[in-house]
Amino acid sequence: MNCAFCGHHDTKVVDSRDVNDGVRRRRQCLSCGSRFTTYERVQPAGLFVIKKDQRREEFNKDKLLTGIRKACEKRPLPTGTVDKLADDIEAELYHRGKVEIPSAVIGDMVMERLKSLDYIAYIRFASVYRDFADITTLKREIDTLVNGETKALQPTSQLPLLPDEELGAVARNRRGRRR
Ligand SMILES: [Zn+2]
Repeated sequence: MNCAFCGHHDTKVVDSRDVNDGVRRRRQCLSCGSRFTTYERVQPAGLFVIKKDQRREEFNKDKLLTGIRKACEKRPLPTGTVDKLADDIEAELYHRGKVEIPSAVIGDMVMERLKSLDYIAYIRFASVYRDFADITTLKREIDTLVNGETKALQPTSQLPLLPDEELGAVARNRRGRRR
């Protein structure tokens, strides 16, 4: 371990203790005498994403977060929803124990979750990720959602995709139920 101040190659450990998920070491430089702290942690095994063009890229949670955040922009979702979603997906990816995951699998995982959360966010994400070629494909996807919605009867966790009238009805229903 090189000294953080003078770069000298030799330091001694003056204190060492276990912290949450690793070891904290207090070190002192054998040349300049400066003290500094290092943390040692277990590094989770590398996870790589295989892109559509077969390129291999290290999994980057920030990228995942950015994509989800964009899709959820200005949607009335509870605080922390986006972070939780990204956390869940990351945890599941590591849990699978595979070193390489096709980007399509990750995209599907995001879509599946967004679909049960918020249709607008879902459509936004899908339009980027699935790269809807034209408005017809987009319309087909929305039709499927709307039809599914009518058949499945309003799932309570879902934010309505329908006009205000419908929103009012839902709100009235909810108020009614509470009484
Ligand atoms: Zn030093």
